[in-house]
Amino acid sequence: MNIGFIGLGNMGGPMAANLAAAGHSVKGFDLAAPMPEGVTKAATAAEAATGADVVITMLPNGAILRSVADEIIPAMQAGAVFADCSTVDVESARAVAEQAMKAGLLAIDAPVSGGITGAAAGTLTFMAGGSEEAFDIVKPLLDIMGQKAVHCGPSGNGQAAKICNNMILGVTMIATCEAFALADKLGLDRQAMFDVVSTSSGYSWTMNAYTPAPGIGAKSPADNGYKPGFASELMLKDLRLSQQAAEAADADTPMGHAAMELYAQFVEAEGGKGMDFSAMLPRFEKRGRG
Ligand code: NAD
Repeated sequence: MNIGFIGLGNMGGPMAANLAAAGHSVKGFDLAAPMPEGVTKAATAAEAATGADVVITMLPNGAILRSVADEIIPAMQAGAVFADCSTVDVESARAVAEQAMKAGLLAIDAPVSGGITGAAAGTLTFMAGGSEEAFDIVKPLLDIMGQKAVHCGPSGNGQAAKICNNMILGVTMIATCEAFALADKLGLDRQAMFDVVSTSSGYSWTMNAYTPAPGIGAKSPADNGYKPGFASELMLKDLRLSQQAAEAADADTPMGHAAMELYAQFVEAEGGKGMDFSAMLPRFEKRGRG
């Protein structure tokens, strides 16, 4: 396929390289990042989109996605698919899809989980929203960049699935970390705490597969000085998107809101920026109730 790829940063770069390595013809554009191996450089976003069967975007936020969409939609050929893999607000995802469809294009939002290592290894998980037809066209590309692609319904539902998942993840990580810190103060050994919880009703992905305590349980960023992994500021971004969506939909999400406030405090006032999101544990360790 002829693919246009816009946004070749930490995630988009390796994703585009994997598509090129699989034999697709990839034309790329980024304001700053270098061209990945096998990707032809375009001078503008519109040039990358011209003549493409599928245009993939992997951009920082909804505002940038909307401005790139304004630029590329008029340049895309009728019937081509606009596939946005960025994590953005549900409203922007739906607005851009509608704009694309009005212009005679197909559209899909397909945010990812799996991070930079998943992007490099081609093992991302995609959560997709859009028509069956659009999903079927991009599915072979998603299968190159990832190991799983779930079609979640109409436009915006990929973003909805992503922020709901990450809201659970943020809340659960905080709960796991505060419980470890409480266990410390009660004189309960961390290994004993892990052995009980990981096989009891408090078990979770954060406890069992991403244990936030160094030297305990699963190998994780905690064993590497809390280097990310999944950085706290990215978790904060997703929690903010979940609360923006909850407000727009009039959904009551007190735990998601509390998690957003805690990660905001951690990132903006407590040195958490650049640390893995599991570094909530050393944060709680240092604190009392006051
Ligand atoms: P990044 O900042 O490394 O990459 C974004 C790229 O977009 C940059 O290279 C930037 O120069 C480029 N860009 C910005 N404006 C542009 C424009 N107008 N035209 C062309 N290029 C432009 O970010 P990333 O880590 O690659 O993340 C990309 C998206 O993936 C984000 O929405 C993020 O939330 C999501 N995501 C990231 C991770 C992760 O672990 N990094 C995991 C899952 C999802």
